[in-house]
Amino acid sequence: MNIIFFGPPGAGKGTQAKIIEEKYGLKQLSTGDMLREEMANKTELGLKMKSLIDEGKLVPDEIVIEMIAAHVNSDECSKGVIFDGFPRTIAQAEALEKMLADCNKKIDHVIELKVDDNLLDARIEKRAKEEGRSDDNIETLKKRLAQYRSYSADVLPYYKAKNMHTEIDGMKTIDEVTAQIIKILE
Ligand code: AMP
Repeated sequence: MNIIFFGPPGAGKGTQAKIIEEKYGLKQLSTGDMLREEMANKTELGLKMKSLIDEGKLVPDEIVIEMIAAHVNSDECSKGVIFDGFPRTIAQAEALEKMLADCNKKIDHVIELKVDDNLLDARIEKRAKEEGRSDDNIETLKKRLAQYRSYSADVLPYYKAKNMHTEIDGMKTIDEVTAQIIKILE
């Protein structure tokens, strides 16, 4: 089973991904996490991408497509993947479809966690205080929220047109959000 999670920073995507990963033996693939790892390890790629990421811009499609392609057929992904933060462009969505089709796989569900804008601002400020991720100050998170609004406006219609998209209420408690996701998956 392969799932794509859509949701703004602060929507609780990471929390839900962990729960769903454990319940179904899936593997979460987050291009944001992979890029942060590259930057932390100061790899050539990480250093090259840092300024784009710091500015809240998207990194080039080929880079993230290659990152996903390098993992999607690994053993830990054999039961399926939760794609988190990918795809962010139509080109990425098409590349994903193709790489899955090449090994007789497909995306089963595209799940969008919807959160009210005011609640989101509050969550973002709380998270920025609690976590200490280097890119996680309020300014950066606001940039990422703007980035989310822009790319989801591109990519969600692509999945809506294919009838693959389901929206859930991300403002409920963690357990209630999980229950909504499970209902879609089962
Ligand atoms: P995230 O933690 O998912 O918000 O990702 C952090 C940053 O990494 C983003 O603001 C982008 O600069 C970059 N990034 C992550 N995933 C992608 C993607 N699928 N396409 C382009 N850029 C990405």
